[in-house]
Amino acid sequence: MIDSKFIIIAAPSGSGKTTIVNKLLNDKSLNLSFSISATSRAPRNNEVDGVNYFFLTNEEFIKKIENKEFVEWEEVYKDNFYGTLTSKLENTINKNLVFDIDVIGGLNIKKKFPKQTITIFIKPPSIDELENRLRNRNLDSNASIKIRIEKAKDEILLADQFDHIVENNVLENSFNEVLELVQNFINE
Ligand code: 5GP
Repeated sequence: MIDSKFIIIAAPSGSGKTTIVNKLLNDKSLNLSFSISATSRAPRNNEVDGVNYFFLTNEEFIKKIENKEFVEWEEVYKDNFYGTLTSKLENTINKNLVFDIDVIGGLNIKKKFPKQTITIFIKPPSIDELENRLRNRNLDSNASIKIRIEKAKDEILLADQFDHIVENNVLENSFNEVLELVQNFINE
């Protein structure tokens, strides 16, 4: 973990964050690994335990909070916990990690590891556009979309605390902007 660099990509749900993270991971020249978080939400159809997340029950998650096993954790949505396990960071040697993590979690990682962390906020063009994207991806119920939109409004208010803000209008352009920031940071 000593020499590892941490790349935090944070954004409201539906901003294209996961696509950008996956494209970074597919760029072999960056040699990045995904920081696999723990969560107590249920797996979606195509998600695999230990690949997308470590899926835990609420009880298991709360036990790990009590045992201080997380670098950071958040109850991102009511009764749905998400967190980064300290053990996973400590076992990372000679690798840079990319995090798909919520805004507050990302800022907390930066606070704990200021020198080795870059924080990039992916900003949706507008709240209306964000809502369209959440509806079009067909992953969430109406109630869940409403909650995600309310959360997005709060998250956008914190964007200024990030090292960089990248607006996601055209995905390819945003990705290239992120790529350049990450390349510069890794080669610093
Ligand atoms: P989803 O349920 O859509 O996979 O994720 C919901 C939100 O939780 C996303 O914004 C995602 O980035 C965030 N998240 C995922 N893992 C973590 C984590 O380890 N810590 C925090 N604080 N947020 C996370």
